Amino acid sequence: MNIFIVYYHPEPKSFNGALRDTAVTTLESQGYTVRVSDLHAQDFSPISGRHNFTTVQNENYFKQQLEEIHATESGGFSEGIETELKNLEWCDLMIWQFPLWWFGLPAPLKGWVDRVFAMGRTYGNGKFYQDGVFKGKRAMLSLTTGGPEAAYLPDGFNGDIMGILRPIHRGMLAFVGFDVLPPHIAYGPAHLDDSERTQLLADYEQRLLKLETEQSLTIGTY
Ligand SMILES: Cc1cc2nc3c(=O)[nH]c(=O)nc-3n(C[C@H](O)[C@H](O)[C@H](O)COP(=O)(O)OP(=O)(O)OC[C@H]3O[C@@H](n4cnc5c(N)ncnc54)[C@H](O)[C@@H]3O)c2cc1C
Repeated sequence: MNIFIVYYHPEPKSFNGALRDTAVTTLESQGYTVRVSDLHAQDFSPISGRHNFTTVQNENYFKQQLEEIHATESGGFSEGIETELKNLEWCDLMIWQFPLWWFGLPAPLKGWVDRVFAMGRTYGNGKFYQDGVFKGKRAMLSLTTGGPEAAYLPDGFNGDIMGILRPIHRGMLAFVGFDVLPPHIAYGPAHLDDSERTQLLADYEQRLLKLETEQSLTIGTY
């Protein structure tokens, strides 16, 4: 199995960094091939624009999706975007590793989606959801929060975590055809002691060892 981890955290020694390292070690020990895009290390810009492309469809008016279709037809994605697209196309499973920021993806990861999930190449022309370009591939969110699990229950302080994650699960991953696995959530690592955090890493390792047989979520339930 080919596994592509898209990782963002501005501190390499963070708990997100530890979860990323746990995933790489565990998955490689199973014989899987793992590639990581470390968006902070790459200094990946979240800002979209003409620099996404080497080609120009309309030099007078920049409309991103039309430029994306044109670049798809003429091999016109910039080198950095093309590398990410090739990783997407290569993988059987994609994992996004990130801290929850403002109930969503940190800007570099959101910008990665804005720039890499290009019309023509990753969706469009009838290719969406169950008929999507990435049909047959799976994706999983692995995230951390500041708040405890109780805050993310349906009647909790922040409300149901699955509702918070829906724009990502459905609007991004399922939209382009991925089957979505249940998210892996490490709640409030900064408020735990070292042994509790070590346990969270062990829990993640155990989850990753069973990935091959995991059931995807049913679309419509998330
Ligand atoms: C802009 C912004 C918006 C935010 N929005 C939200 C929000 O909407 N909802 C919410 O709940 N939270 C929010 N937060 C909080 C954020 O989600 C958490 O701070 C983050 O998820 C915690 O993960 P971390 O990797 O940053 O932890 P860290 O603080 O990096 O790590 C926690 C602890 O783990 C230790 N550690 C590292 N590696 C290991 C290891 N191998 N073994 C044991 N311990 C280790 C670290 O040393 C540290 O003491 C926000 C934060 C920011 C900056």
